[in-house]
Amino acid sequence: MRIAAAFAALSVSAPAVADDHAASWSIVLHGGAGVIERGDMDAETEAAYREALDAAIRAGGDILADGGEAIDAVEAVIRLLEDDPKFNAGRGAVFTSAGANELDASIMRGSDLQAGAVAGVTTVRHPISLARAVMEDSPHVMLQGEGAEIFAADQGLEQVDPAFFFTERRWASMERRVRGLGLPVPPRPEGAPEPEPIREGALNLMEREHAFGTVGVVALDQAGELVAGTSTGGTTAKRWGRVGDSPIIGAGTYATPICGVSATGTGEYFIRLNVSARICHELEMLDRGAEDQPDPGQQAADSVIQEALTALGGDGGVVMLAHGQPVWSFNTPGMYRASYVAGGEPVVAIFGDED
Ligand code: ASP
Repeated sequence: MRIAAAFAALSVSAPAVADDHAASWSIVLHGGAGVIERGDMDAETEAAYREALDAAIRAGGDILADGGEAIDAVEAVIRLLEDDPKFNAGRGAVFTSAGANELDASIMRGSDLQAGAVAGVTTVRHPISLARAVMEDSPHVMLQGEGAEIFAADQGLEQVDPAFFFTERRWASMERRVRGLGLPVPPRPEGAPEPEPIREGALNLMEREHAFGTVGVVALDQAGELVAGTSTGGTTAKRWGRVGDSPIIGAGTYATPICGVSATGTGEYFIRLNVSARICHELEMLDRGAEDQPDPGQQAADSVIQEALTALGGDGGVVMLAHGQPVWSFNTPGMYRASYVAGGEPVVAIFGDED
């Protein structure tokens, strides 16, 4: 519990909405959590992350402000981040110990609890779009591996050569990790560009980020629909077909009519705690309580992240919309994050001491 108390100070809530009905739309996103501290990043890198987060949250906000649907906002923002090599999703995803990019994604709609998810895909440019197709155009909730790729082709989704996802810094980070584990370094993937030198600082930052960089978005549209989605390459040097929490409905992503959550962190802990669904359940319990709670969304998120997750030894965080109000909670020193509420300005933050 001492650890929980120490990290509790790092919990920061996003700007409040005056009341539940004041915001006609809202959106919140994360780009991964980890040991991201001031001084770890040079000014240029920090500016590049802030710019990417700002562009992504504005893109989502614009869709919602124009009366667009939450599902389109979530998909569009995640597609942007999947194409951005800074984040561990789509292009720029981490490598498995066998030298592959195996991508996971999920999406869930609050009003009817419809959901779609994919795990271990290697040729689909936008795994979030495939997750959406699973939800809307298949009788299933989760597809994995080869079958998911076949379904993607049937759906006419863009497929790319696996080398499309390659980035030198993720490759170097995996190489370092497999050497540390005493495993053989896999051959460089066919079609990967010629090796280039990597700055030691960039590698160190990635390790401190725990190679996180998963992306997630929760959006509420003007019609009151709430959608949450998450996309990731998983964890560096993962083995044996490992699947994390991101494509697991309830663990990495969850949505109800009043609560949407996307998580990032060490998936093994998030799965066991069923983090995202648990936070929404906590919120429901608080809403049903006799006394009015001042900030039930923050309380619900903190009780799972600062208490349950921390007590279990897991690290990471979540972004959430609770009755339309953006919330974030993380027990790591930093989390790439942003929020935007109708009538307000976008908020972008990285370090734990920002609000
Ligand atoms: N949660 C992801 C996983 O375990 C990783 C992350 O969020 O960084 O696959």
